[in-house]
Formats: sequence, C-alpha cells, structure tokens
Amino acid sequence: MTNAYKYLYWVIVSFIILGSILMWDHYRPPLAEKPSSEGVPILTYHKVNPDRNTGGFGLRVLPADFDWQMKYLKNNGYHSVSPGNVVDHFQTGSKLPDKPFVITFDDGYQDNYRYAWPILKKYNYTATVFIVPHIVGGINAYDYYANLQPENKMLTWQEIKEMNDAGITIGAHALDHASLTKVSPAEAQRQILESKKILEQKLGKEVRYFCYPYGDFNRNIAEMVKKSGYQAATSSEEGLVQANSDPYLLKRLRINGHLSHRMFVKKLHKY
Ligand SMILES: [Zn+2]
Repeated sequence: MTNAYKYLYWVIVSFIILGSILMWDHYRPPLAEKPSSEGVPILTYHKVNPDRNTGGFGLRVLPADFDWQMKYLKNNGYHSVSPGNVVDHFQTGSKLPDKPFVITFDDGYQDNYRYAWPILKKYNYTATVFIVPHIVGGINAYDYYANLQPENKMLTWQEIKEMNDAGITIGAHALDHASLTKVSPAEAQRQILESKKILEQKLGKEVRYFCYPYGDFNRNIAEMVKKSGYQAATSSEEGLVQANSDPYLLKRLRINGHLSHRMFVKKLHKY
C-alpha cells in the first residue's frame, strides 16, 4: 500500500471504531430487570406529540417513544395504578399489584387524548391527567403568552369526560396554572379549591389529587391542599413514593423526549 492508501485506511478504521463506541449506548439492550424495590415510581409526562411545532423535547415525548416505554413496562410485568392506590397502600396496607407504577400527565394537552390515550388502551394502562380548568378547550395561555412555549391545544371538556368515564383519573393543576407561592395566600387557596370544585361539577366525581404548577409549593401550600379535601398531591421532585413519603409531596420521575430507551430504563431503576 502506498502511504496515501495507508492513511485513508486508518482514517476509515478510526471512524468505524469511533462510530461503534458512540452508537453502543443507544443500541445495546436495556439493563437486566432488577428485583422491584420498596418504592413506587410515578412517571411525569406532559405532551405526547410527533409535531415539533408543539414544542421541544423538554415537555414532549414522541408517540413512538411513549409506545416503546409502555411496551417495556408491560413486558416487564408492571401494573399501572392511581396515586390514591399508592397512598392507601402505604397508609392502610391495602394491596397493590406486583410492580406497581403511576402514569401522570401534567397540564391536559389535547395530544394526551389524540396520541397517548390510544397507546395506554393498547397496553391496558390507566393514567392520571392533571387539568387546568380555566384553559380547558383553549390553549396553554400561561406559558404561551410568556413566550416560553409555542401554542398548544388543550383538552376539551368532552374529551376529559370521555377519558374519565373510561377509567382515566382526573386531577387538578390549579385554576390557571398559577405559581402558588408567588400569589397571595387567598389567591392560592382559590386556585386550589376552585379547580377542584369546577372539575367535580363538570365530571360528577370527586377529584382527589392535586399537582403543584411548576412544582412550586411550600409547607403552607401543601397544608391548603390537604385542608381543601385532596387525598394526595404530586410534586416535581425526583424520586419514588415510599412508606415514609408525605402524601402531599409525592415525588415523581420526569420523562421527557431527550431520554433514550436505555436512559428511560435506567431512570426507572435509579432510586
Ligand atoms: Zn404544569
């Protein structure tokens, strides 16, 4: 071989080796299943949507990835339950199925109905959707007008009712996604209580779960949620629900569109 060919040969070999190393993490099979720990994972989703115009992967998961994640959970024996099932289990010892987990969707995007729900039905999984009553049937006013996200359509009352009647749990996410520690206590109280009342009136069912907008809470806010009659509330802190967890500060695992399949599995077993 001439020197030029030798050089070309080594460049190609180096590319193949480097490429293999980079692709390895993406393509190798997920981690072997660990025995289930004590804690129960609550997964947090926002948008499930293939349309890049609806926002970045910080809040959006592709339907194909959501399908992969649900399939992984199904194939590995996970059973979806409601937040209340988990709280009851730790408070009263009521039974949970093997490998329980909770699926939650924050904000109530219309794509939850269009893309996520058919996939949930395919794997026979239930979920909890946290609704912002003042923007039902409208758009994501709270972050669109703050130039934080593109315009997204929110669920309509009819879609929420249809999902609720079919076994999807509906929770409250404040009246208009207010940051509860940044408004007056009276306003925080109104956001917490009125969102519950409106949802209950529209659905004809008790609304038992609350989700803090922006994950923003303090001790007073959590106490208001408790006194308003909710059974539990989810936060944005990362972790599992365990025996000593405060039911009004349930930790979750945030799932976004940046997670590879392997990273999703890793996150599920992180705590
Ligand atoms: Zn939210």
